[in-house]
Amino acid sequence: MKEEISILIDLQGLDTELAGFDQNIADKEQELNDRQQSIEEKKAEAVQCRQKVEELEQEEREVKAASDDAAIRIKERQNKMMQVQTSREHQALLKEIEDAKQLIKDTDEKLLQVMEEAEAEAEKAEETENTCKGEEELLAEESEKVAAAVKKLNTRRKTVQNKRDKLAKKVPPSKMKRYDKLLKKRNGLAIVQVVDGVCQGCFMTMPDQQFNEIRQGEKIFSCTTCQRTLYYTPPEDDES
Ligand SMILES: [Zn+2]
Repeated sequence: MKEEISILIDLQGLDTELAGFDQNIADKEQELNDRQQSIEEKKAEAVQCRQKVEELEQEEREVKAASDDAAIRIKERQNKMMQVQTSREHQALLKEIEDAKQLIKDTDEKLLQVMEEAEAEAEKAEETENTCKGEEELLAEESEKVAAAVKKLNTRRKTVQNKRDKLAKKVPPSKMKRYDKLLKKRNGLAIVQVVDGVCQGCFMTMPDQQFNEIRQGEKIFSCTTCQRTLYYTPPEDDES
């Protein structure tokens, strides 16, 4: 019984090591994904800036067209002035000319504002695009480093996996099945120590009677709360 427990303890140690490799690899890949994600978000921002630039340029063209129309209108009205007879017609034309002049003044101001806005937006887009480019280059370098690190980790992982597979063959299949099931269900921890009657998997206290039996190590016990296999290691300075 003690030998079986000791194999399971070793097995748990190797499985914890394997999980550590997996976590390490997953963390590295997650970090790359997060960085990629952040670049994608910035790229989307740059695209929006570019769209805004296009909209502003369209507005620029419209404002300019309105101003040009007003200028043509002024010339037409000025030519008409020579032909009108009555003062009322004269006044009406003057009014139209004044209105057109005002419109040109207003649109010129508007044009300046739109052009400045378009320029600022284009600058922002370029800046964001450059940032993305820089970050993409850095990420490409980092990806290569991570790939190399992951390759190394996988090589070491394979060695541990082989050891684990060899050890697992020493455990009776039914027990191994139970162990694997617990490993999956209980967050990678199938066999745990009992310290002072407390399961180190779920931290529930067990009855004294059960703790005593576990201490004797004659039988394999499972925690009644988390079902993990329990073992006891006597403290080094305590012979009880
Ligand atoms: Zn427990």
